Amino acid sequence: MEHVVVVGAGLAGLRTVEALRAHGHAGRITLIGRERHRPYDRPPLSKAVLSGKADTSYVETDLAALGVEFRPGVEAKSLREGVVETTEGELGYDGLVIATGADPIRLPGDGPQHVLRTLDDAHELRAMLVPGARVAVIGAGWIGAEVATAARRAGCEVTVIEAAEAPLATAVGTEIGARTERWYDGIDLRLRTMVESVEEGGVRLVGGGFVEAHAVVTGIGVRPAVEWLADADIDLHNGVVADEHLRASLPGVVAVGDCAAWWSRRWQTRLRVEHWDTALNAPDVAAATLLGEQAVYDPVPYFWSEQFGHMVQYAGHHPAGRRLVHRGEPEGKWSAVWLTAGDTIAAVLAVDRPRDVVQGRRIIEAGHRVDTERLVDPQVSLRDC
Ligand code: FAD
Repeated sequence: MEHVVVVGAGLAGLRTVEALRAHGHAGRITLIGRERHRPYDRPPLSKAVLSGKADTSYVETDLAALGVEFRPGVEAKSLREGVVETTEGELGYDGLVIATGADPIRLPGDGPQHVLRTLDDAHELRAMLVPGARVAVIGAGWIGAEVATAARRAGCEVTVIEAAEAPLATAVGTEIGARTERWYDGIDLRLRTMVESVEEGGVRLVGGGFVEAHAVVTGIGVRPAVEWLADADIDLHNGVVADEHLRASLPGVVAVGDCAAWWSRRWQTRLRVEHWDTALNAPDVAAATLLGEQAVYDPVPYFWSEQFGHMVQYAGHHPAGRRLVHRGEPEGKWSAVWLTAGDTIAAVLAVDRPRDVVQGRRIIEAGHRVDTERLVDPQVSLRDC
């Protein structure tokens, strides 16, 4: 293969470049990215960068040693077989890696609206988090909770507006989400509240209320960044449709990271997972596939979030579960396990119990049945259940 073009210079794009070299690709590689930054990690944006403990989160790598032609500030606009049309002209390819990630969803309204996806977003928002500032966070999902944590620590008056019955309900269900409600101490948490629009000076609510704010942060989720592929002859459905080898429907094209909806052999369904671990590990399979090797991407997805002084970790795919079992009480360290009809583990979510996630992930990988009576006892380690 002569020339591989990688579109998207986030973690997944960069790791695919590294994996291509590791798998022996000696030809040309061009990496284009819409942002002006070299590749960086996003998880620190809502943690160390937002709280001022770090200014950047660049990924340690040597682009020169990788022999990659890195072109920051270049955006892909469209695709036809063998050619990517960019803001700086056409790029012909023999192999193409789609790693364009995801873009935050915004709400209607003319008022200033912050989102948190890029390093620049994080710096802009950080400047607003000053003592006494009124901050309205729309959405009590993973990002909303982390932004609320940083804003509260910075001494802001924080209102969190969430349409669902509980924080994190969209991600992991109301029962688990409700256990995190107590963490919003000192925050005006408004559940079952819908936003109509973001206006100058605050947030207009459906039904008439208005939440005044100096800064409004919208954290209601993302969409795969695939608009540039709208007219291409490639299957799109909630991202770039890919098989278990991460191969897209167009020859010579693979998709990886937040924008890829791949077929999971393990769960027999299509997954699109917006987790750092996926951006880190899927590239090895994508590179192997592109170079004609046999490789399957079949992980137990893993994710973590740091919020309100708690480490929340998750492994698995809970929609495959049939019932939920709790280990420990909500006021302390606890975890929850989703069990399948056959008493194997579908997913584990742990709060300040990292071992449960490590062991749970291994049990999910192995597909073992567990003893559900022992499982409810948080003193019994998961691997002994
Ligand atoms: P991205 O990181 O989004 O990179 C894609 C890149 O492609 C972007 O730079 C984008 O500008 C560029 N691009 C898009 N369209 C084009 C185009 N047409 N042409 C050229 N370039 C383009 N995950 C966890 O597991 N734990 C966490 O605690 C956690 N915290 C997070 C906190 C924040 C604030 C955010 C935003 C994400 C967090 N994540 C976390 C998720 C994790 O960071 C993502 O899953 C990961 O960044 C996905 O990597 P990616 O390379 O697929 O996409």
